Amino acid sequence: MKLNDLDVEIVQKNIKHVHLCVYPPEGRVKVSAPFNMTHDTLRVFVISKLAWIKKQQLKFRSQEREAPREYIDRESHYVWGKRYLLKIEETEAPPKIELKHNKLVLSIRSETSQERKQAILEAWYRENLKQAIPALIEKWQSRMSVHVNRFYVQSMKTKWGSCSYHSGSIRLNTELAKKPLACLEYIVVHEMTHLLEPTHNSRFIGLMDQFMPKWRFYRDELNRLPVRYEEWGY
Ligand SMILES: [Zn+2]
Repeated sequence: MKLNDLDVEIVQKNIKHVHLCVYPPEGRVKVSAPFNMTHDTLRVFVISKLAWIKKQQLKFRSQEREAPREYIDRESHYVWGKRYLLKIEETEAPPKIELKHNKLVLSIRSETSQERKQAILEAWYRENLKQAIPALIEKWQSRMSVHVNRFYVQSMKTKWGSCSYHSGSIRLNTELAKKPLACLEYIVVHEMTHLLEPTHNSRFIGLMDQFMPKWRFYRDELNRLPVRYEEWGY
């Protein structure tokens, strides 16, 4: 279906309700509709959603994309919101990462593959987070009168963090090690607040306002910063 400059992919299948999806990064539009829905009804439906579609497409376009990494000298890598230039040093010893002034020095064997370099760096980011999180949890446990049983650090495609209300555990995205520390703290507080209130209702917002009055600033900061293209979904 074509509406002005908008191409809409229509898939009719054995379903009861009509679904509309806008996909990143180009903002491709797909509608899944029941077999008995007529072309005219579909057209009216899509027209009624045009403003929403445009808004989603604009969001994808304005999202600044971080280029895929090649792990070569002088490439930018972020640690706690600060930019470092990658420096590859050859060694026969086990791999090592050090921050020296504005350089992130990766010492590895000369034949190390790109995938392996990425894995070494990811593990290092995860370790940085694992070291930073306990102090934040401790600080906020006493302020919020809530207890975190366990925390996990892992790669997540679509979220900065998540929380399991029943097991009292929180999960944090490895990518947070690239963002300013205050952003990590905001996500920790957000997930800990879920231990008090599982949904994003008005009580949740009220608790966030009470614990961290500037939380919206950090949320916007996280949304503004580059995200890894291949790891981001909506
Ligand atoms: Zn949440």
